[in-house]
Amino acid sequence: MENIPIIRVGDVVELKKPHPCGNKTFKVMRTGSDIKIVCCECGRTLTLERVKFEKMIKKIVLREDN
Ligand SMILES: [Zn+2]
Repeated sequence: MENIPIIRVGDVVELKKPHPCGNKTFKVMRTGSDIKIVCCECGRTLTLERVKFEKMIKKIVLREDN
């Protein structure tokens, strides 16, 4: 079994592949079959398929509680 992290809106994740601006941390804006994230550096948004996104996660930097 693979250990797939549960991603929630508000989480900040570090991805294995950096954004073209050089930043690697992204905030999760929306979850579902597609994941919408916003770059913490330049503010651009990206939409990724959940399966692809899960493979790109290096770690969860910040978890929003509540
Ligand atoms: Zn960026």
